Amino acid sequence: MSPGLRKPLVAGNWKMHGSTAEAARLVGELITRGVGKGAAEAVVCPSFVHLAQVRLQLEGSQVGLGAQDVCAEEPGAHTGEVSAGMLADIGCRYVIVGHSERRALYGESDGLVARKFLAAARHALVPILCVGESLEERERDATRAVVLRQLDAVLAAAGSGAFARAVVAYEPVWAIGTGRTATPAQAQEVHALIRGRISEKDAMIAASLRVLYGGSVKAANAAELFSMPDVDGGLIGGASLKADEFASICAAADG
Ligand code: PEP
Repeated sequence: MSPGLRKPLVAGNWKMHGSTAEAARLVGELITRGVGKGAAEAVVCPSFVHLAQVRLQLEGSQVGLGAQDVCAEEPGAHTGEVSAGMLADIGCRYVIVGHSERRALYGESDGLVARKFLAAARHALVPILCVGESLEERERDATRAVVLRQLDAVLAAAGSGAFARAVVAYEPVWAIGTGRTATPAQAQEVHALIRGRISEKDAMIAASLRVLYGGSVKAANAAELFSMPDVDGGLIGGASLKADEFASICAAADG
C-alpha cells in the first residue's frame, strides 16, 4: 500500500451464506470489535435478502455496505433481478461486478460485466470490478492478456473517467476458496499491470485507483500481501464470515 495516496479498503464477500440470525450475529461481532474504525475502509457484501437488515444494523457504525451483483438493466420486466437503483435506495455504496463465480457459473461475458459496471455508475454506486485468470490461463502464460482483456472491455464501455469512482479487484481464479494464495510478488505484478493500463489513459485516476487483491486472504497472510505498493486492500470471501479473521484482516490494512 502507498500510505496517504489511497485509503485502503477491505470488502467481505459473504457469497450465498448465512441466515438472518447468522448475519445479525456476524455484524454484531464486527461492530463490537470496532471494525471500520481504523485507517482502512471496511465493507460487507451480504446476499440481497440480507441487505436491508444489515443496513439497519450498521447504522452509526463505520462499516459500509455493498452488494454482490447487480442487473445491467434499468427497472422493468426482469424477473428475479435487482437493479442498481434498488441497491442505492437500500443503502449500498458498493457493488461487486464480474466476480469469477458469476463469469464461470453464470456465463457472464466481458460485455455484460461492462454493462453492469455502467449500471452501477449511473446510480452512483462504486463498482468493485473483479478480474483474474484461471489456473490454465496462468500456466499457459496468458495472465496478462486475460486481465487486460477483462479490464479493456470496461474501459472501452465506460471510459477511464469512470475509474475515478471505481475499485478493481485482482482475483486469480485459482486462489479463490482454494487456500492457495498468490505470492505478494505475483499479486504486485498484476496490480501494477492494472494500474499501468489505467495510467496509459489517465495518470491521476490511476494513482488514486484502489486495486484490491482477492483469493484466500486470511489474517495470517494479509499483512504481507497488503505491504505491496500496488495492493490497496482485499476482497475477502471465506475469511469474511469469521468476525475475528475479518477484523484481523482489516487491522492489517489499517497498517
Ligand atoms: C472471493 O470470492 O472474492 C474470494 C476472494 O474468496 P476467498 O477469500 O474465499 O478465496
